[in-house]
Amino acid sequence: MSTDSKQKTALLKNLPAVHEILDRPRLKQAQADQSLPRWALRQAVQIVLERQRTEIIKGERADVQPFDHLESDILKETEKLLLPSLRSVINATGVLLHTNLGRAPLAKEALDAILETAKGYSNLEFNLDTGKRGLRYQHVEALLCEITGAEAALVVNNNAAAVFLALRALAKGKEVIVSRGELVEIGGSFRIPDILRESDAELVEVGTTNRVHVKDYEQAIRSSSGLLLKVHPSNYRVIGFYKEVELEELVALGRRFSLPVMHDLGSGCMLDPQQFNLQGEPSVKEALESGVDLVTFSGDKLLGGPQAGIMLGRERLLHKIQGHPLNRIMRIDKLTLAALEATLHLYRDSYLPLKNVPALAMLTAKQETIRKRAQRLAGKLKKILPSSFQIGLQSTVARTGGGSMPQEAIPGTAVRVRSTSYSAATILARLRLASPPVIARIEKDEVILDVRTMQKGEEPLLCGAFKETFV
Ligand SMILES: *Cc1c(COP(=O)(O)O)cnc(C)c1O
Repeated sequence: MSTDSKQKTALLKNLPAVHEILDRPRLKQAQADQSLPRWALRQAVQIVLERQRTEIIKGERADVQPFDHLESDILKETEKLLLPSLRSVINATGVLLHTNLGRAPLAKEALDAILETAKGYSNLEFNLDTGKRGLRYQHVEALLCEITGAEAALVVNNNAAAVFLALRALAKGKEVIVSRGELVEIGGSFRIPDILRESDAELVEVGTTNRVHVKDYEQAIRSSSGLLLKVHPSNYRVIGFYKEVELEELVALGRRFSLPVMHDLGSGCMLDPQQFNLQGEPSVKEALESGVDLVTFSGDKLLGGPQAGIMLGRERLLHKIQGHPLNRIMRIDKLTLAALEATLHLYRDSYLPLKNVPALAMLTAKQETIRKRAQRLAGKLKKILPSSFQIGLQSTVARTGGGSMPQEAIPGTAVRVRSTSYSAATILARLRLASPPVIARIEKDEVILDVRTMQKGEEPLLCGAFKETFV
């Protein structure tokens, strides 16, 4: 045996046993007063010992750490084991409706409603006037109709479900006419052709990738046609030699041939998009005013509420969809419903959504406000971080994300961080593992922190994450 492997064997032998470590005073105390669960402590000890073993075998460790150090490692590891898998992160990406980060943060009113509904029983499907069974959808139907001017409304689990259910209930076994330029894929698992196939409707493509005319739709209409579908291309744009058919024209065509017209809006912008200086995003009201028979959209995109699929339109159609057996499979959950009702309530006032719906408040925050916030954050980071870090400001653009307005850039100011000790990729990776995790992006080997998507009160948490990681 070489001296090297002799030494390794000695080191491995020296490693304490699990029960020995658990008997050390700090860990023993934690077990005695039950401040930390025994299963977590045990697992943490095993993890830390295993790490030591690997390091010794790889020759990365010349001595076994004193017990004390092991103990603090174990306590840290125990805390990690006790963290939930799903937890809050700081979104410093500048993407407002970041699908991977849970899209829209909820308004306080929505949070309160969730808590209130979750803590006990509710009249979810119980009519308090008659004492008989009620329908869960009714808690938001009148409100949705009041805000948007729709004839009827129905809500399901998400917009993908809404589109699928509507097609299945209204066009099963029939042909659905769609422009080729609107056969989009949204976020990997939602593709219009696949949804049509799964709903047992037959896809009839019309037009070309970049241009479609109303006569293309008209020529495709046959006795087996069931529906005219328009889809908001959401996450991409064709620019240049491009033509789509306006909703009004499609509605007129549908009327002539007694075919329902459905529009998958994607994002449900309930306010006038002009209010945000954002072009190219249709509002729900506008779509309904065109006379379209059915619109569908998400609850957690520009509406700024919980994940939900909202359907608005003709009562006759929505009645049919509501009664479809698959509706039961896609039904909206009571906590979502509570959050949705509370969010929609804000829309009864014209100014409240911009103030109280976080996604809209972030979207419309003034450049000057964003610049001041970035300045303040940069100042704090400068104070905390060692001199190997350089902190500065730079102009940046935020995006709405979530498949709305892909080309719309929202100007603002970001904090940029670089270090002579760490690459930008390393800083980014370490921030992801901090508590709370901070999600940011890299530009030109600098870490960019966009304050527009940070919530009130997150600045000290972000500073804490930097401190914990780099100081
Ligand atoms: C986002 C989007 C969907 C899917 O909505 P979810 O609420 O995520 O299920 C469907 N269609 C369009 C056009 C979209 O933009």
